[in-house]
Amino acid sequence: MIKKIYKAHEWQIIEESFDASVHEMSESIFSIGNGQMGQRANFEEHYSGHSLQGNYIGGVYYPDKTRVGWWKNGYPEYFAKVLNAPSWIGIDITVDGEQLDLAKNKILSFTRTLDMQRGILQRSFSVELLNGTVLTIDTERFISLVRTEMAAIKYSIKPSKKSFIEVSSFVDSNVKNTDANYDEVFWNTLSNEIDDTDGVILAETKKTFFTIATGMSSEIHLDSVNQLLNPISKQKNGYLCHFFPVNVDQSQTITVIKYASVTSSLNHEKGLLVKRCKENLASCRILGYNALKEEHVAAWLSKWDESDIKIEGDVEAQQGIRFNIFQLNQTYSGNDTRLNIGPKGFTGEKYGGSTYWDTEAFCLPFYMSTAHQDVAKNLLLYRYKQLGKAIENAQKLGFADGAALYPMVTMNGEECHNEWEITFEEIHRNGAIAFAIFDYVRYTGDEDYLINYGLEVLIAISRFWKQRITFSEAKKKYVMLGVTGPNEYENNVNNNWYTNKLACWTLQYTYETFAMLKQTSAQKLDKLTQKLSFNENELADWKSIVTNMYFPFNEEFGIILQQEGYMDKEQILVSDIPVNQRPINQHWSWDRILRSCFIKQADVVQGLYCLEDQFDTSTIEKNFAFYEARTVHESSLSPCIHSVVASKIKNIDKAYELYLRTARLDLDDYNHEAREGLHITSMSGSWLAIVKGFAGMRIKSDLLYFDPIIPKQWKSYSFRILFRNHVLQVKVNAMQTEFLNESGTDLTIKLKERFVLVPAHQSVIEIL
Ligand code: BGC
Repeated sequence: MIKKIYKAHEWQIIEESFDASVHEMSESIFSIGNGQMGQRANFEEHYSGHSLQGNYIGGVYYPDKTRVGWWKNGYPEYFAKVLNAPSWIGIDITVDGEQLDLAKNKILSFTRTLDMQRGILQRSFSVELLNGTVLTIDTERFISLVRTEMAAIKYSIKPSKKSFIEVSSFVDSNVKNTDANYDEVFWNTLSNEIDDTDGVILAETKKTFFTIATGMSSEIHLDSVNQLLNPISKQKNGYLCHFFPVNVDQSQTITVIKYASVTSSLNHEKGLLVKRCKENLASCRILGYNALKEEHVAAWLSKWDESDIKIEGDVEAQQGIRFNIFQLNQTYSGNDTRLNIGPKGFTGEKYGGSTYWDTEAFCLPFYMSTAHQDVAKNLLLYRYKQLGKAIENAQKLGFADGAALYPMVTMNGEECHNEWEITFEEIHRNGAIAFAIFDYVRYTGDEDYLINYGLEVLIAISRFWKQRITFSEAKKKYVMLGVTGPNEYENNVNNNWYTNKLACWTLQYTYETFAMLKQTSAQKLDKLTQKLSFNENELADWKSIVTNMYFPFNEEFGIILQQEGYMDKEQILVSDIPVNQRPINQHWSWDRILRSCFIKQADVVQGLYCLEDQFDTSTIEKNFAFYEARTVHESSLSPCIHSVVASKIKNIDKAYELYLRTARLDLDDYNHEAREGLHITSMSGSWLAIVKGFAGMRIKSDLLYFDPIIPKQWKSYSFRILFRNHVLQVKVNAMQTEFLNESGTDLTIKLKERFVLVPAHQSVIEIL
C-alpha cells in the first residue's frame, strides 16, 4: 500500500503533523547536504523515540571486518561502512526543569518543511508542557552550498508564560553506527577544546585514521537583540556544550544561532584541522546568519537554473522530480575526484556509502547534462585512478596480464562487497564502466579523454573479458559461465545475455577506439601500448570473441533469453502474485525467490536500453512485453529503465506509471524502506525517464536528437541541458516542442527525422 504522508507542493516537502511511526522515514526524506557532507533530518532537541541518527562526511569510511567468507581465498576482508560522524546539531531545551522531547510532550501543532528551492530545512511546532506552559518553536538549518565546511541553525523558542529556559548547544563525538558488524565504535576522540566563543572536538576513525574537527559557535538573542550572554562551557569526553540559562518573559522569544564547521584530513593537514575549523566559525560570526543563508540560497537558485525540470499540470510528478534533482545535487557536486555517489548518499548507512555500478549506469547522464563537463569527467577519473586496484582485484581472483575487474562496491578501489554471488559474479559492472566512457565521449565530444585515460581502462577491462570468456566445444561458441546479471534474483547462471552483450560491446568499442586513435594520436598510443605491454594480437582475439559469442534466444516466444535455462522455470506473471506478498523480498524466502521466474530489476531490458540502436522496434516491443510482465522492480534502479524503453516504443501510459514509481519511490515509500535512507542513485532514473524517455533525447552523429511524447496527465514539461558549450531549453506540450538556445552560437539539432537550426539566443517552435 502506498503511503501519502507529505503534502503535494511544487517546491516543498511538507509534513503537517507529527507521527512518531514515520519519524525515521521523515528523517530520511528531509535530509540535507552539500556534496561534501550531509545528514538526516534528526531533531536538534532531545528525542527519546525511535530515530536513526546520521551525519556523514564524503570519503570518510571504516573498513568493518566482514562477517562472512573472509576465510575463503580471494574473499574481501571488509565491508566498508559510511560513518555516522560526530554530530553538531544538538540543542537541548529544558523549561522550568522539564525537557523538551517530542516523544513525550503534548504536541499541539507540527509542520516540517524542506524548501528544496532554497535548500533549507524548517520546523514550526508548539507543545504544551506539564505545567501548562505552551512553547512555540521555529527552527531552520542548512548546510552551506558555498562554504562547504560550514552549516548553521536558527532555533527560536517563545514560551506562553514567564519561564526559566536552559539551552544546551553541543557537539558530540560519542556516536555509533547502526550498521556495525561487531557493534564496535568507529571513532576515537583525540581532543576537546571549548571557550566562550567556540568549541571543537577532534576525532579520528579507527583503522583508516581520517581525522575530523567538528566545531560550533553559539549565540543567544532575546527578541532578536544579541544578548551577548556568556555561555557556561561544559565538557566530558567527546562532548562539548555551551550552556545558557535564561529567564524569558511571557511572549518574549529567545533565538539560538548556532554555526557549525566540519574540517577533514582529506582536505587539510591534520595538525591544522582545529585551527581551520575555528577560522571557519569566526568567518561565520563575522558574516552573520542572514548573509550566510543568503549566499547559500543564491547558490541553490543557480543550481536550479541549470538542472530544474518543470512539469505543468501534475503537482505530484513535479514534486517528485524536484525532490530527486534536489537530492542528487546535494549528494554530488563533482569537484573532487575522490568522491562518488553512494546509493543512499548522505541519508543513511545502508550500502556502506560506497560506489556501485549505479554511478556509471544511472547517474552519469544527469550530471553530464546539468553541470559543467568536468563534473562528469571527475566521475570517470574516479575509476581511472582506481585502475591499479581493479587490476589487483582481478589478480586476487586468478586473472593476469593487466586484466581489471572493478569492484562491485568500493570506497577506495578495493572490493568490499561480501556476498560471493555479487562480489565474484556480478561482473557486468565492468561493462557499465566501459559504457560510461563511451557515453561521456559521445555526449561531450571529449576525445582527448580516450587517449589520456579512457583507452587504458578499456584495455584493462577488455583483457578481463577475454580471460573470463571461455570456448565451449559443445556449442562451438564463446560462453560466459557462472555470473549474476543485473537481476540479483538469479545467481551463478550461464550466459546471462546482458553480461555477454556488454562484454562483446566493450571488446568491439575498445578495438574501434584503438583503430581511431592510431589515426589521430599515434605517438601517444605508442607510449600507452608500451606502458601496458599491449600486443596488437590481443585485438584479433577480441574480434574472434565478438564474432562468435553465444547469445541465448527462445525461438518459441521469439525473445532474447535472460540466461540459459530461464524457460525451465515455472512461467507465472507478476500479476499472479497476491498483493499481500509484495514485495516478494519481504515475504518469500530467498530460496523461493531464486527458484522463481521473477526478475528483480531490468536485465534484458537494461541491455535494450543501452544498445537500442542494435534492435528494431518490434524486437524491443516483444522483449519489453515479455520481461515487464515478469519484473517485480524490487530494485529502485529498475522502473526508470523500463520507463525509458516504454517511451521508446510509445507505450506512454506504462512509461508514465513507471516514471511515477521512480520519482516518488521514497516520498510514497513504495518499497517500505525509506526509513533506512533514500534511493539516491535511482533518482537520476527519474531524470532519465523524462529526458531520455518522454523527450527521447539521444546523441546521434554528434547531434542532439529528440523524439518527444507527453503523458496525458501533463500540460507541458521543460528542462535545460548543457551540451558542448551550448545551453538548450526544451519545452514539450501535446502540440509542439519549443527549443530555446541560450548560448551565443547557433545549434543544429535533430527532431525526429528533421534537422532544426536553433539560432543563438533565439527560440524555435516545432509542431509535433
Ligand atoms: C541492486 C544493484 C545496485 C545496488 C545498490 C541492489 O539492490 O540490485 O543493482 O547496485 O542495489 O543500489
